[in-house]
Amino acid sequence: MRHIAVIGSGPAGYYTAEAAQKQWGDDVRVDVFDMLPVPYGLIRTGVAPDHQSIKGVSRRYEKTALTENVRFVGNVKVGEHITIPELQSLYDAIVIATGAPHDRKLGIEGEELGNIFGSAAFVGWYNGHPQFADLDPKLLGKHAVVIGMGNVALDVARILAKTEAEFEGADIVSHALDLLRASKIEKITILGRRGPHQIMMTPKELGELACLERASPRVDKEDLPDEEDDLILEPGLRKSVTHLRSFAAIPENIHAEKPIEVEIDFFASPVSFSGKDGAVGSVRVERTTVETGRAKGTGEYYDIPAELVVSCIGYHTAHIPDVPFDDRMGRFANDEGRILPGIYCVGWARRGPSGTIGTNRPDGFSIIEKVVEDINSGILGRGDKQGRSGFDALAEARGLDIVTFRDWKKIEEAEEQAAREGAPREKFVDIEAMIRAGR
Ligand code: NAP
Repeated sequence: MRHIAVIGSGPAGYYTAEAAQKQWGDDVRVDVFDMLPVPYGLIRTGVAPDHQSIKGVSRRYEKTALTENVRFVGNVKVGEHITIPELQSLYDAIVIATGAPHDRKLGIEGEELGNIFGSAAFVGWYNGHPQFADLDPKLLGKHAVVIGMGNVALDVARILAKTEAEFEGADIVSHALDLLRASKIEKITILGRRGPHQIMMTPKELGELACLERASPRVDKEDLPDEEDDLILEPGLRKSVTHLRSFAAIPENIHAEKPIEVEIDFFASPVSFSGKDGAVGSVRVERTTVETGRAKGTGEYYDIPAELVVSCIGYHTAHIPDVPFDDRMGRFANDEGRILPGIYCVGWARRGPSGTIGTNRPDGFSIIEKVVEDINSGILGRGDKQGRSGFDALAEARGLDIVTFRDWKKIEEAEEQAAREGAPREKFVDIEAMIRAGR
């Protein structure tokens, strides 16, 4: 029997568990650990609440989770409740699938001012992550600035722009919906330090900006390159740029009909924040040009009013004691997923915060192939580790309050029962409340 510990129950974790199951069938036991009492990682707390169809992938993970040889071990923080050397003594292989939960910093003056948030915190807030439930962003100013040209920036801008009715069917948590209902934001500026040809936004997500009830997207046509230059772009990016061109063509009378403007400001690199009474009031921006693909400052500066700032510039992985980390890359030090003999990483913990949910599937399968190679070459021992029973004994001795998948199903049921009309669930945002509901 082979025993695998997967740390993290998001897409990368569950695809790894599925791959292990396919590889060894009944001859494997996989324990999927999570520090939260609830599974699915970014599917629950990262994917936008109004993108429920994307969240539907969790049904596939549930199928894996409900099999005999995979179990969910929630409410256990590896590195705190149990160490990596302890896990190594119990399991043949440890696969770290903890994602990249921490915000990258801009590292510019004034970043510590109030009402400036990283996207992990802000997205976590509207998605009910217990760590960010108390974020309490102020949405009472007229101007919000969202930094970054990726899909997370689009998610944040869209959530800020939507009407309450547009959250029909979404599982945005009530504390966020309450603040958004009272929001006074009239202008959302998405800042990109490079140009339209360097955006990371995908076409479907960008196209949604043009379908909002009370907001219209604005692009300055002067920022767009000649149309024939689009021909060299790969098809997805070309489609996204076509959306930008259509935004630039929206007539003024249409903008005037909508009370919120979502402006996409290219060639604009934030250099500092300033404010009053400890809260942000404006962003100073340097005009850039793009030379050989890189943003280069022009020395021209201007200020943008901003009573709320959400920086969506990427994430880094959280350290785990005893696991080598690559500080420059913000993820575990690894060679195609191998960290140390018997310790592997997958998903964002391996490659950094890029790719779609589906990218994690081949990742999970390829890491299991590496585990197989390492078993075959004798690196991982004879397969005589204790696995689950050893962990259970240790958990009992330590008094760990484990949340099982069965407990999670009770939490899920309670969340579904608590849903407001038209919503699929009302998430618990408090760990103790989750655990109580699971008992
Ligand atoms: P991303 O796609 O890597 O975009 C990050 C953006 O931040 C880039 O435009 C980058 O600009 C900018 N940036 C980085 N450092 C900056 C700085 N110092 N100043 C100004 N701008 C800076 O990351 P993401 O939006 O966080 O998304 C992460 C991953 O999740 C992506 O793979 C994304 O597609 C995926 N995702 C998908 C969906 C969906 O499919 N619906 C939703 C959300 C997220 P440069 O390019 O100039 O560096």
